[in-house]
Amino acid sequence: MTKIVETQGVLYIVATPIGNLADISLRALEVLKEVDLIAAEDTRHSKLLLNNYSIKTKLTALHEHNERQQLKTVLTKLKHGENIALISDAGTPLISDPGFPLVQAVKDAGIKVVPIPGACAAIAALSAAGMPTDRFIFEGFLPAKAGAREQRLQALEHEVRTMIFYLSPHRIFKVLSDMQAVFGSDREVVVARELTKKFETIKKDNIANIISWLTNDSNQQKGEFVCLVAGAVVDENALMQESERIYKILREELSHKQAVALAAKITGIKKSKLYNLMLSPDQVV
Ligand code: SAM
Repeated sequence: MTKIVETQGVLYIVATPIGNLADISLRALEVLKEVDLIAAEDTRHSKLLLNNYSIKTKLTALHEHNERQQLKTVLTKLKHGENIALISDAGTPLISDPGFPLVQAVKDAGIKVVPIPGACAAIAALSAAGMPTDRFIFEGFLPAKAGAREQRLQALEHEVRTMIFYLSPHRIFKVLSDMQAVFGSDREVVVARELTKKFETIKKDNIANIISWLTNDSNQQKGEFVCLVAGAVVDENALMQESERIYKILREELSHKQAVALAAKITGIKKSKLYNLMLSPDQVV
């Protein structure tokens, strides 16, 4: 493990509001006031937030187009003992936002990275969606190209965890109709729009109804969106039958143990469950 040298500066990853300017922590404000430099995705945009809190710290731009060059400058400053905060336009940096190469390089250099947690649209939407939160996946933005998007969604067809997507408003119908094709019209979705803002709307229904609701109300098509899709409901009996079928085919060539392991991997069923079920004297090697 790389040793952290304390004479170096610290890189703070600071979450900022996703709409409502009051959604920022006291610690975030303190850090933004105290650091030597703030690296912001869009300095003009961030100035509005900083002015609102009378923060006069120097700003530098760090966005997806200059991140690789800026990385060297930021790294040098940190090595010379400067403390730097990274912020994005909204929410938590690095979450569908710039910053990953920087954090990776800073950590590789043995310099301390400290998160200052706060708003994140995905987590805010999940917390109010009324969908299972014990296990979920974050998919961010789907690919813009239709083929790649369909492929990505196909790979999620049997996903049992709640899925979280970021949507851009001009692609909302395309994405929802692709979702309908893959997950079916009845799959429940939540559209969380303009979170923390004046026209915040959190609507839960099946995909078909959500599409017609959006079609009939053009006001609902504007703004920023998070879309959550309920995970697939697993039919345990059907899954067990399918696992047995696959096991029997594999067992013709493989040992009981190998066939169980592989069949369980293919269907996602618990290995121990299948192992016991298929355990019979003639099957054991
Ligand atoms: N880093 C941000 C975060 O922590 O959520 C996300 C940045 S990403 C570039 C922007 C996307 O986040 C938007 O297109 C939208 O999908 C989602 N988003 C951001 N703010 C939102 C809000 N107030 N309401 C709904 N979705 C929001």
